[in-house]
Amino acid sequence: MPKRKPDHVPMRTCAICRQVRPKRSMTRIVRGSDGSVAVDPTGKAQGRGTYVCNDPACREPVRLATGIQRALSVPVKAEALELEEIHATP
Ligand SMILES: [Zn+2]
Repeated sequence: MPKRKPDHVPMRTCAICRQVRPKRSMTRIVRGSDGSVAVDPTGKAQGRGTYVCNDPACREPVRLATGIQRALSVPVKAEALELEEIHATP
């Protein structure tokens, strides 16, 4: 068993609002080797990832695309994001 504090909660910074929140409450967005950007429901996909929180303001398509583009250094079209999948993530 790895040593771990029982109260340790992994935190991540939202790419949109820059708030630090528990990783489990966030959606991971990953950039694939082909430059495509996709939601990573498992949180374990290969590639450079960033996180988006559950705040509805951060799920607004244009803000989302802008933030992800900045975080992952890849062009993102708002309409290309699988927003339904993001919304479905608890
Ligand atoms: Zn946010």
